[in-house]
Amino acid sequence: MTAEVISGKELAAQKREEMKQEVIKLKQEGTTPGLAVILIGNNPASRSYVKAKQKACEDIGVHSVLIEMEDTISEQQLVKEIYALNEDDSIHGILVQLPLPNHIQEQAVIEAIVPEKDVDGFHPINIGKMMIGEETFLPCTPFGIVEMIKSKGIKMAGKHVVVIGRSNIVGKPVGQLLLNEHATVTYCHSRTNDMKSITQQADILVVAVGKANFIGAEYIKKDAVVIDVGVNRLDTGKLCGDVKYEEAKEVASFITPVPGGVGPMTITMLLHNTIEAAKRHA
Ligand code: NAP
Repeated sequence: MTAEVISGKELAAQKREEMKQEVIKLKQEGTTPGLAVILIGNNPASRSYVKAKQKACEDIGVHSVLIEMEDTISEQQLVKEIYALNEDDSIHGILVQLPLPNHIQEQAVIEAIVPEKDVDGFHPINIGKMMIGEETFLPCTPFGIVEMIKSKGIKMAGKHVVVIGRSNIVGKPVGQLLLNEHATVTYCHSRTNDMKSITQQADILVVAVGKANFIGAEYIKKDAVVIDVGVNRLDTGKLCGDVKYEEAKEVASFITPVPGGVGPMTITMLLHNTIEAAKRHA
C-alpha cells in the first residue's frame, strides 16, 4: 500500500486560519503582533525565505518590518540594531535570516536578541528550556515536524525515532522534542558507521541532511513514518527533498512531500511563536 501523505501545506493553511482569528482578538484587545526580520546581503535563497515570511505575516494580520543591511555591515552595527528592536514595544519577535556573512559571528547575533523576542527559538536560554521541557519558543522546523506527526494521530511514545542530521536548527532539536514526547531517539550524522542498519530500525525516520534524493527505500523499515526536511534545488530548477519520494512512499506508512511538507509548517510555527510573544507581552 502507498504511504499516506502528511501535507504540511494543508495543515499550515488550517493553522493559519485559526491564527487569523487569534490576531483579530489580540488587535481588539489593543495588541498588534509585530515581527522584525533582518536580512543581510543579497543571498537569493535568503531573500525568498524572507519574502515568504513577510507574506505569511501579512496574510494573517501580523505587522512585519523588514530591515535590510549591506553585507559589509559590522557585527557591532548589527547587534546595535538588535538592541534597538529589543526595546521596541511594537516588535514582539526578532528574526535574523541566516546564514550571515563570514565576518559576523552567528552565535553572538543570536544571543543579542532577548530570549522573550527570540521567535526562532535559537537563543541558548530557549534551547536550554526546551531541553528541560519548560515552556518556551520552540525552534520552528522541529516544532512544525512534531505538529505534523501529531496531526495524523501518530503515537510517538516508545517509538524508535532515527534522526539523520545533527544541526543546531533542525537535527538536534527535533530529536530533543521527540524525546520530550517519550520516543527513543538515535542520531545519525556524517561519521555514523553502517547508517543503513540503524535507519532500518526506525519507526519514525527524520531526514535532515541537505542532499538531494539521499535516502532510498533500502534505508526505510516497512510502514515507517518518513519526515523529509531537505530542500534541494536540482539543476532543472525543481525542488526536491533528501528522500527518494517515489520509492519511499511504497515502503512507508506516512510520508511528507517536498515541496508542500515541512517547509510551510516552519513558517507557520514562526507565526505561532510571534503571536505567543505578543500574548505574553500584552
Ligand atoms: P546542515 O547544517 O548542513 O546539517 C546537515 C547534517 O547532515 C549534518 O549534521 C551532517 O553531519 C549530516 N550529514 C551530511 N552528510 C551526511 C551523510 N553522508 N550521512 C549522514 N549524515 C550526513 O543542514 P540543516 O540546516 O540541518 O538542513 C538540512 C536540510 O534541511 C537542508 O536541505 C535544508 O535546506 C533543509 N531545511 C529545511 C527547512 C524547512 O523549513 N523545510 C528548514 C531548515 C532546513 P555532520 O554534523 O557530521 O556534518
